[in-house]
Amino acid sequence: MSVIVLAEHAQGAFKKKSQEAVQYASRIAAAMGTTVTAVAAGNISADELRTLGAYGAQKVLHVADARLDDLNSRAYSRMLVTAAQQEGAKVIICLHDTTGKAVAPRVAARLKAGMVGGAVADPVMSNGFTVKKSVFSGKAFANVSITSDVKVITLMPNTFGVKKGEGDATVESLSVAFDAADFGVAVKEVSKASGSVPLSEAELVVSGGRGLKGPENWGLIENLAAELGAATACSRPVADSHWRPHHEHVGQTGGTIRPNLYIAAGISGAIQHLAGVNGSKTIVVINKDPEAPFFKAADYGVLGDVFEVLPRLTDAVKKW
Ligand code: FAD
Repeated sequence: MSVIVLAEHAQGAFKKKSQEAVQYASRIAAAMGTTVTAVAAGNISADELRTLGAYGAQKVLHVADARLDDLNSRAYSRMLVTAAQQEGAKVIICLHDTTGKAVAPRVAARLKAGMVGGAVADPVMSNGFTVKKSVFSGKAFANVSITSDVKVITLMPNTFGVKKGEGDATVESLSVAFDAADFGVAVKEVSKASGSVPLSEAELVVSGGRGLKGPENWGLIENLAAELGAATACSRPVADSHWRPHHEHVGQTGGTIRPNLYIAAGISGAIQHLAGVNGSKTIVVINKDPEAPFFKAADYGVLGDVFEVLPRLTDAVKKW
């Protein structure tokens, strides 16, 4: 019996949030008196697979099927279910990201497991198995008990951070009996945003809203982001108006991020926007309206015009 965790990688390198998920799994495994088995798919070296030992995995099961290089929720869930059954796992962990949100519910359904999505704390196991998650767009927390024998959890990325330890995991290959229907939906083309830091992984994010007036002014956001080594994001109307690509849109209907620093320029701070960013460790708001609701959620507020404040902030960061 072990705790299973899906370890995602990008072009053969484990994502920081996957290392965090492995560490989260290792604390659960320690409390249950068992071990952690990570599961990784697609093109990744044995050396990289072994590195998960430094985050608490004793074993990594690898499915070296090139069809898994792109996310395929059916095939990924069959892979995790196979791993869970082989290992006799009672707890299966994914990230609360695009992959985990697509895969974890399928795994839970196939294993008849109870599931909690978006965990923000280690489960309490003193009396049952209770998982804390945020609800109502981050306005409250719920403690949810899972009473089924097998449990599935998705972990909100950047909840704990990661601390690298020591040791290598053993690597084994996992054979999965996929069927044709598992690959009934295939990715035909991947277009990548070039140059910038990936938003879901970013520790610093500079984000713009309708206050920027139009796409021609986005250089102000990009220049500050470039100086900080930050990713760029935006509010939903900005993406809906095609000023920015949709993968940058954060909020209730977009991405959920928890960076160390979120700078919001010309964004009002509607509750639907806050739902995606209010887990950020520090929020800086730049807005010319003192009544903008975002100021209530901000750690630091700058009352001013983005067209004056952003260039000055960028210059200040350059000199720093
Ligand atoms: P606005 O509301 O137009 O605000 C612009 C802000 O810029 C204002 O506060 C203004 O004072 C300020 N400003 C203007 N000019 C300047 C200047 N020169 N300098 C400084 N400040 C300036 N929104 C999201 O972002 N993400 C979501 O996921 C999302 N999901 C939604 C889901 C539903 C079901 C619904 C109904 C809405 C959703 N929305 C979402 C929309 C949300 O309600 C807001 O309409 C949206 O967030 C507003 O975007 P904004 O702040 O960029 O624009």
